[in-house]
Amino acid sequence: MCGIVGAIAERNVVPILMEGLRRLEYRGYDSAGIAVLNGTARLKRLRTVGKVKMLQEAIEADPTHGKIGIAHTRWATHGVPSERNAHPHISHDGLAIVHNGIIENHEELREDLRKLGYKFTSETDTEVIAHRVHHHMQAQKDLFKAVRATVSELEGAYALAVVSETEPERIILAREGCPVVVGLGVDENFVASDVAALL
Ligand code: GLU
Repeated sequence: MCGIVGAIAERNVVPILMEGLRRLEYRGYDSAGIAVLNGTARLKRLRTVGKVKMLQEAIEADPTHGKIGIAHTRWATHGVPSERNAHPHISHDGLAIVHNGIIENHEELREDLRKLGYKFTSETDTEVIAHRVHHHMQAQKDLFKAVRATVSELEGAYALAVVSETEPERIILAREGCPVVVGLGVDENFVASDVAALL
């Protein structure tokens, strides 16, 4: 189980997310990724295998900025360490999720989603959560309610953070059996797997 960082601010959060990931490196990981909603509320994602430094280089090569975003260091439990298994995972382009932990009933949820027409691009248990949230959004039309409906279906341990183009001013968090801390600032708020990333 590895690291999550999230930030929502009036300034570019990419440097904050990257600094948070660097401070979580001590926990160990095999890949890293970031997703931000940029000025036009379009979701942009970058993922790399290996060190956070590689992700930093990818960001320098492809300038990325936004006022709301989530980032992750992954310790693979379901699916090999690879770029396509790295987080954040996306459903239908506009919704992104980072997750620490293990979803034990991911296979039955995946089967249900396949019947509903969802296509999977990774072998992770996490991608199942992204598509479940997207699925619940069709009925709930509210990201918080859709995440709440999704977590009521999950068995296992998780800390997760979700952003969506449909609600570009919110990060939704949920946790069960995995730590996550929230940092409240002045006009900006943060989330991380541990205090080291917030200090
Ligand atoms: N189970 C998830 C995966 O394999 C999350 C692993 C983690 O906590 O980093 O992608």
